[in-house]
Amino acid sequence: MAKKAATSDTQANGLRALPSVAALLADPAIRAATSLSPAGLTELLQGIVGEERAALLGGRPSTRAEIRERVLAEVTRFERPRLLPVINATGVIIHTNLGRAPVSAETAAALASAAMGSVALEIDAETNQRGGRMREVSDLMRVLTGAEATLVVNNNAAAILLVLSAVAAGRSVILSRGEAVEIGGGFRIPDVLRQSGATLVEVGTTNRTYARDYAAAVDVGTAALLKVHPSNFKVMGFTHAATVEELAEIATTHGVPVIDDQGSGALLSTTPFGLRSEPTIGDSIRSGAAIVTASGDKLLGGPQAGLILGKRDLVERIAAHPLARAVRADKSCLAGIAQTLRHYADGTAVQRVPVWRMIAATPQEVRDRAERLCGQLSQRSRVLPVDSTVGGGALPGETLPSSALALETSQLDGDSADALARRLRTGRTPVFGRIDGDRVLLDLRTVLPEDDEALLAAVEAVLAPHASPQL
Ligand SMILES: *Cc1c(COP(=O)(O)O)cnc(C)c1O
Repeated sequence: MAKKAATSDTQANGLRALPSVAALLADPAIRAATSLSPAGLTELLQGIVGEERAALLGGRPSTRAEIRERVLAEVTRFERPRLLPVINATGVIIHTNLGRAPVSAETAAALASAAMGSVALEIDAETNQRGGRMREVSDLMRVLTGAEATLVVNNNAAAILLVLSAVAAGRSVILSRGEAVEIGGGFRIPDVLRQSGATLVEVGTTNRTYARDYAAAVDVGTAALLKVHPSNFKVMGFTHAATVEELAEIATTHGVPVIDDQGSGALLSTTPFGLRSEPTIGDSIRSGAAIVTASGDKLLGGPQAGLILGKRDLVERIAAHPLARAVRADKSCLAGIAQTLRHYADGTAVQRVPVWRMIAATPQEVRDRAERLCGQLSQRSRVLPVDSTVGGGALPGETLPSSALALETSQLDGDSADALARRLRTGRTPVFGRIDGDRVLLDLRTVLPEDDEALLAAVEAVLAPHASPQL
């Protein structure tokens, strides 16, 4: 009994010592560290004080000074926006964790100006009648791929779910066992099929599936033949996959569509840049796919979006499905996709679209930039040959020869490569590189030339003697 009373006493003392929200609100250092309104700051402080009270009652009390330190740290962290631009020097062009494709300056401007004002999204300016919000993108895509109509949604995952829901709910979809894949982030094609209300009919084997396997499986319940690009892995050796052409022939005979989840949204051939051939959207349409789906922010190089292209009657049916409204693209996205497509339509994509600029940069150009930066760095660095990858689930296993600025940590006051990489990531202009033994590699292929000076300044700031870890 005596012991219990003593504990409660301690707790009561602790609770009395807990700083009040009002006292913290009045603390000049805390006020100086925040831009929050009094109401917002009160809300934040109530949360912290509440957690500290619970910790105290749970036997883990903090001192007043510790609580004040914590409040200052959280208030300061709150001031720092997280989604600020960083420099991608990882060597992965389409880096999912860094937000996938960067867009061109023109596309960024189109996104911003659509966002900031009103646009004639669904009004025909000539007639003042309601007009299709997909008109511009459809017109551009028809020129670029031959597709009769295009529908833009939030992302390709939404595109596939919508297409299958509209075309195949209550019926079956034939898919190769080699293409019953997981795309990433738990997005599994068999699960999406089930979610859409369609039944999966798997044919062939993991490594070999022939056109005749699909032909043998078609029956009256078949809604579509589905082809999925196995984006993020590559099966080597004894393999076979049926082509879109072969599937289209079978599909036509039975009056069902071929749906091709093409994935990367490539509108240009990758082979001129020394990469394996990646099917383009146009290839798929020309090969007879009735519907093609793709991402807007992989090899297309635009903002996040899902593209559904193909036969007009099918696209219209898909657009009329109730789910279409739930996943439709907004005015900014449409303006951004349209501007990105204009780079392809006027033939300047390789000069304008960042993803293609990075792919098209010659090894010599990249090395020259690395050498120049290396020469300007006050601290010791070297230029090393490295390999970049395309990333984003496009061309797995393929690499592009590149050059990296190698920052040798052994030369730099005993900093470990991990610590240096962390300081680069947390600097005023964050830089993401990759660690290779005791050095940090900054791959210049994934940095746009116009960002070279910013990269140089960011590295200088981190390497400078007495640079504070938190710039
Ligand atoms: C990337 C990808 C998806 C998912 O696209 P998101 O735009 O990320 O939703 C689906 N299918 C394939 C083949 C892909 O490569």
